[in-house]
Amino acid sequence: RVTVLGSLNVDNIMQIKRLPLPGETMTMSAKQIAGGGKGANQAIAAARSGAITAFIGKVGEDEQGRLMKKYLTEANIDTSSVTLAAQETGQAFILLQESGENSILVLGGANQAITNDDIEQAKDKISEADFLITQFETPLETAITAFKYAKENDVVTILNPAPAKRVPEELLKNVDLIVLNETETELLTEIKITGEDSWSTAAEKLAQLGVKNTIITLGSKGAYYKTTTAEGFISAFKVNAIDTTAAGDTFLGALSSQLHHDLSNIEEAIVYASMASALAVQKLGAIPSIPEVDEVNNALGG
Ligand code: ADP
Repeated sequence: RVTVLGSLNVDNIMQIKRLPLPGETMTMSAKQIAGGGKGANQAIAAARSGAITAFIGKVGEDEQGRLMKKYLTEANIDTSSVTLAAQETGQAFILLQESGENSILVLGGANQAITNDDIEQAKDKISEADFLITQFETPLETAITAFKYAKENDVVTILNPAPAKRVPEELLKNVDLIVLNETETELLTEIKITGEDSWSTAAEKLAQLGVKNTIITLGSKGAYYKTTTAEGFISAFKVNAIDTTAAGDTFLGALSSQLHHDLSNIEEAIVYASMASALAVQKLGAIPSIPEVDEVNNALGG
């Protein structure tokens, strides 16, 4: 069972040749709408990989909010703790270049209106879960409250510190597993991520800060992990990436669906998560690109 506290955004995907220069006007090749938001992506990735999933979040009373709730419901996610805010539903504006690289602008909206009171109302969704996941597209104070409550109830907490931001000690002390990309690792540890040595130095720094289990995702290279009992690197699958939006989210959601409570099968779970995200980067959009468990297992040859 997985519970995600996080963001729900409608993504406006603008396909462009390259980023416009300051002062330059360009036409876009195409525009599409898709469901997204780190929270939604991670929850849907977990649910499509078979986890019983619940969501804690907020939407506005608008078309986008109804759309986002529909996406969650279609993935069999429990939305009873997704409540209405006075603000509009979150939106992201994604500039997707032909190279597959993306640049993203986010309007927080309702996601920023989640309060500690909402966490209080959703306590059963946390205590019932095996894993609680959050990111930084919702207020930090709610993450602190939720993780504290999770730890009191023997729930394994997973933090994805994205978009990259410094993490207060009050939150770090209640994080069981941190999953972060190279940019986020560099910001949190002040260690430049270059090669193998820098990965373990960064993980050691995170351990000093209070997080004993780390996964650093390294884009098309793969993922490095260090836990209290294991350390290693898993190569990414070689695929033709067309849109890397939600690669990290798919990885994390898929990972949580496979992981044992004591993290003993972390290597196996990372292989599964790598395949799920390798499938996701071959399709456009966040939610539309996230694979189902059968697709992942077939691709793994099992
Ligand atoms: P984020 O999206 O958070 O920046 P990463 O780019 O590190 O995260 O990607 C997360 C994971 O997704 C990687 O560890 C890898 O397994 C997979 N992945 C990302 N990009 C590619 C790619 N181009 N080809 C294959 N797998 C990829």
